Amino acid sequence: MLTNDQLGKWDRENFFHPSTNLGQFARGEAPQRIVTGGEGCHITDRDGNRLLDGFAGLYCVNVGYGRTEISEAIAKQAHELAYYHAYAGHGSEASITLSKMVMDRAPDNMARVYFGLGGSDANETNIKLVWYYNNILGRPEKKKVISRWRGYHGSGLMTGSLTGLELFHKKFDLPLAQVVHTEAPYYYRRPEGIESEADFVAHCVAKLEELIEAEGADTIAAFIGEPVLGTGGIVPPPAGYWEAIQAVLDKHDILLIVDEVVTGFGRLGSMFGSDHYGLKPDLITSAKGLTSAYAPLSASIVGQRMWDVLCKGTDEYGVLGHGWTYSAHPIGAAAGIANLELIDKLGLVQNAGDTGAYFVGAMRDALADHPHVGEVRGEGMLCAVEMVADRETRRFFDASEGKGAKVAAAMLERGVIARAMPQGDIIGYAPPLCLTRAEADEIVSVTVDSIKAVLG
Ligand code: PMP
Repeated sequence: MLTNDQLGKWDRENFFHPSTNLGQFARGEAPQRIVTGGEGCHITDRDGNRLLDGFAGLYCVNVGYGRTEISEAIAKQAHELAYYHAYAGHGSEASITLSKMVMDRAPDNMARVYFGLGGSDANETNIKLVWYYNNILGRPEKKKVISRWRGYHGSGLMTGSLTGLELFHKKFDLPLAQVVHTEAPYYYRRPEGIESEADFVAHCVAKLEELIEAEGADTIAAFIGEPVLGTGGIVPPPAGYWEAIQAVLDKHDILLIVDEVVTGFGRLGSMFGSDHYGLKPDLITSAKGLTSAYAPLSASIVGQRMWDVLCKGTDEYGVLGHGWTYSAHPIGAAAGIANLELIDKLGLVQNAGDTGAYFVGAMRDALADHPHVGEVRGEGMLCAVEMVADRETRRFFDASEGKGAKVAAAMLERGVIARAMPQGDIIGYAPPLCLTRAEADEIVSVTVDSIKAVLG
């Protein structure tokens, strides 16, 4: 067996890590962790640590680690048929069965599911379908997509553009011209003078109307949003937000893409965030929770009005020129089937709602009086703690102090993984949906100790 030193050296010399400070890592100045296994909500590493994973990998290992039901389904599929493509009417028993299971769970009025590999490619698919749709309808100028500041929709050229975080644009020449951003529904960071949630929703609506007016409704094809902002800070929307936004979109004939890469398949305590907030999507983007990340797979779920136009288009122009080699990969599909069965069998959607509410409530109570905790918020099995220099004025810490990263590091020393979100001093939590109350208590107490250790 390779020694840790050997592996660590190879890692620093060969491996280009995503979302990493490259130079620091290569020089040995940034931390390294070689993960070896997992069981339930815990992972283990080569240094002998056992850590409670309060972020389920990257909000994706929803059923928890080490589920043999899924690994055995993957092994069986690999033995029988590791791969065949899905072009021109080909399929496998696994991919067809999974399509039926996804559509049985999808919100009303959804018509078909297109399988890809990850959230970014599913969003790329959805944007292309929107453009195709408007071309078929004879309105080629209706192509722009509205996204929100602090939204996260992926790291590709188009999806990185849709993402509304500076880190993902800076020095990449993004966003592309077809993307415009509007206000984030981030009540805690509302502008001066706005007090009630209702007033803030009215402000978000006014900003959206202003943008549509300025760009021209006949140039805007779609609006994309996560039911709860994820990587942008884990921010549930204020009451009434989605209803009000959906009304504006309907008025201007703008399609709605609901990015459920994080929220799909149970994380909010509902099967989909669209159901949770009463949304009527034209397209849903899903990935992570579809297989609990046991294999890469994404789903673009297409609504009926879009499906009808796509069929009209291919009747007129022939085969849809859009496909990935690994679309509907049989191994991903086998993982998806076993995963969705397990979610039902273990009642994980229910647990995400119940234990999630317990977890967020316990976090809120434990930090209610801390002078540097501005807000504790959450929905289902998503939670965030936002830290501030001054609670009264909601003033940020100086970004160079890296308070969020320091708290996350202090938590790691105490055996719990949470994520310092990329913008602001926000600690994010998205544990596996099988989290127990005892595990929730442990995350809360480690958070409190770590915040005290770093912020006093
Ligand atoms: N959309 C959302 C809401 C996400 O959170 C993510 C990933 N965190 C993506 C899209 C992109 O997914 P992937 O990293 O699988 O490409």
